[in-house]
Amino acid sequence: MSENLAPKLEKYLPPPVLALAKIAGREASELGQELYLVGGVVRDLFLGRANFDYDLVVEGNAISLARRLAKDSQAKLTTHSHFGTAKLKYPGFSLDLATARSEIYSRPGALPTVKPGSLKDDLIRRDFSINAMALCLTPQHFGGLIDLYHGKDDLERGLIRILHPNSFIDDATRILRALRYEHRLGFKLETETERLLRRDVAMLDTISGDRLRHELELILKEDQPEKMLRRADELEVLSKIHPAIKGNGWLGKMFAKARQVDKRTSPLSLYLCLLIYNLTEKENEELISRLNFPKRLAQAMRHTLQLKAHLHNLANPKLKPSDIYQSLHGYAAPAIQANALASESPIVSQNLRLYLTKLRYVKPLLNGEDLKRMGVSEGPRLGEILNALHRAKLNGEVRTRKDEERFVRS
Ligand code: ATP
Repeated sequence: MSENLAPKLEKYLPPPVLALAKIAGREASELGQELYLVGGVVRDLFLGRANFDYDLVVEGNAISLARRLAKDSQAKLTTHSHFGTAKLKYPGFSLDLATARSEIYSRPGALPTVKPGSLKDDLIRRDFSINAMALCLTPQHFGGLIDLYHGKDDLERGLIRILHPNSFIDDATRILRALRYEHRLGFKLETETERLLRRDVAMLDTISGDRLRHELELILKEDQPEKMLRRADELEVLSKIHPAIKGNGWLGKMFAKARQVDKRTSPLSLYLCLLIYNLTEKENEELISRLNFPKRLAQAMRHTLQLKAHLHNLANPKLKPSDIYQSLHGYAAPAIQANALASESPIVSQNLRLYLTKLRYVKPLLNGEDLKRMGVSEGPRLGEILNALHRAKLNGEVRTRKDEERFVRS
């Protein structure tokens, strides 16, 4: 152990987590096991960044340790015996415990075969040196740092470094992870890591659509994801996902605008609709199937291009609100928003925004039941009257309930 970080750890962890980490360390020791805090939380402790993912590794058996800890507390325990992992949910936080394991990749991109191993085995299977540090939690060495791959040096130098030359071949999702950390932490790829990343970019083909999509979504959840997409473009990572997607200046401008209109921290579906905005329908379908997008997102992406092909209908300043409603009703909101941002016609954008901010919420006060009570008999005629009433409401021709009743009678 190179250094003792007990004082730092005691300051960094919230008091209830620290108390539990100490109890867990003592219990592990009584079972003759070693317990460590590992991964992102150790990295973030050095960087002084908040991280509430408490990943613990047990040299021994994570499940039996978790069971012991659950016994004398109000924690909710879930276990996965197949993976040798357990989760303890306490009020306000949770601890993830995993049995230290070694991994063998039967073929590139496949999920690895896993068996119990030592902490050293567990650390070498990790993605980057900065994520491969551990802090001992058992009492004899509490706070002792295990840094077999010089993660601390790399943190000080601001470098993202893989642990062995086949790392990107074993698991090419690490290519996208590398770009995410580079951007999030303001780090650089270490020279040899960058060379190997460029060499192995084609290994992205070995990754399943779901895993690739998950990594893309994690990128889109970061601050200013356009910067990562630009870097991914430069490193030919994006073109490997699909040759038509680009992380260029246009996309950067659109993403920045997207954040202004959609104040959620990561307007994921809107970002996706913008990402595919300049694709053909065929390219869009290829991307949807490569990344296995779920129905709702795939639909928003398709609607984006369908609407884009019909925008000329909305380029008329004299359109009535009911015409705008008619043209846009049924399109997914992110698809409309993407077109509002990307369209070069101010009239089109204005009409799209009017729909999004106002028209889509307009509803008559009277419903079918009210109409029946007023003597309209059930059947197609009732539907027609309701539609006419909705149009009149959109166009501001009726406002109050009385107006609506007069309209129906007429
Ligand atoms: P974040 O701060 O984004 O949550 P994290 O470091 O906690 O990042 P996770 O994705 O939660 O990352 O993964 C936890 C740990 O598991 C990482 O720190 C890393 O050591 C390891 N890990 C995750 N994904 C991989 C991978 N594809 N290959 C190797 N190790 C990985």
